[in-house]
Amino acid sequence: MNLRPILLTPGPLTTRDATRRAMLQDWGSRDPAFIALTAELRERLLGVVGGAGTHVAVPLQGSGTFAVEATIATLVRRTDRLLVLANGAYGERMISIGARLGLDVQTLRWPEDAPVDPAAVEQALQADPGVTHVALVHCETTTGLLNPMAEVARIVARHGARLLLDAMASFGALPIDLATTPVTAVIASSNKCLEGTPGLGFALVETSVLAAAEGVCASLSLDLHAQWRGFEANGQWRFTPPVQVVAALVEALRQLEREGGPPARLARYSDNLDVLVQGMAQLGYRLYLAANLQAPIIATFRVPDNVGFVFDRFYDGLAERGFLIYPGKLTKAPSFRIGCIGALDRRDFERLLAAVAEVAAAAAGPG
Ligand SMILES: *Cc1c(COP(=O)(O)O)cnc(C)c1O
Repeated sequence: MNLRPILLTPGPLTTRDATRRAMLQDWGSRDPAFIALTAELRERLLGVVGGAGTHVAVPLQGSGTFAVEATIATLVRRTDRLLVLANGAYGERMISIGARLGLDVQTLRWPEDAPVDPAAVEQALQADPGVTHVALVHCETTTGLLNPMAEVARIVARHGARLLLDAMASFGALPIDLATTPVTAVIASSNKCLEGTPGLGFALVETSVLAAAEGVCASLSLDLHAQWRGFEANGQWRFTPPVQVVAALVEALRQLEREGGPPARLARYSDNLDVLVQGMAQLGYRLYLAANLQAPIIATFRVPDNVGFVFDRFYDGLAERGFLIYPGKLTKAPSFRIGCIGALDRRDFERLLAAVAEVAAAAAGPG
């Protein structure tokens, strides 16, 4: 492949040249320059969701799942009860994490094509006052479905429980306002809507809650309280930080601000999705979700059932043309996914649609 690959996935994503260029430098992890970079990172992350003053940002080495596991392990005690709301693979992953940690985990499940229902959450919390924490996936990347986060947050708060939000696929694009929405922990990573490079997760945690979580986490490296105390003590990471990933993420966050913040990014992604969905419809590919549930993050398309569609051949044809798409993750209907996020705009999607038309024509032709 001689083209620069266009990643139409849920991450890692296509990044800007300036973001990757920020990695062309060595940093001493205990040097003042890197300490300043870490401070800028933590401050900018809070700024994205209006959490300054109420929350603290705790970055953690690893992918997003590491940050989800660290947050649950640090904030949920063995005497607590965690209710996980699940309508896809990432909700199921939080159930697994809670079970592995030996926590008291309750679950409420919905089909993959249905949003979490706030009324059912309300009922469950009424029926079981022992629930102390509720975990929700904001945008369920399994399908690209957007869950009603703000409504659920208000219900959870009204019942005196704490919301742990997996905002991995939404942070930086979809609206999250910690000043008006009660969320105890917002968890995300470097390589999705922030358009950084992979290797870093983070949680923004309500300061008073994190301060009270000393000694809860049974893991040394995943202990977010200890990680936070480390930053507060001397501005440094406890263990080797991914210095280049930090540098790239700070650059990506500066670009997010220059672009106009999350609203501008959301507008660009929404435009990407519109071009994609309309063009794909003309080529005979239908969305899996009802349009009003589809977030402009990643679109799931049903495999057309008329022709002999072979995903691997479709994938290879697009890959030869520089576009990397994603297999489906549904447990039932056969599907594939095309991401709308990353440093891409409608011109990339117009070129993609031309490539899809070519690949489909080749598949339908002789030989
Ligand atoms: C990407 C993602 C994660 C984390 O996945 P990693 O592969 O560990 O980075 C968690 N939740 C959601 C909703 C995601 O989209």
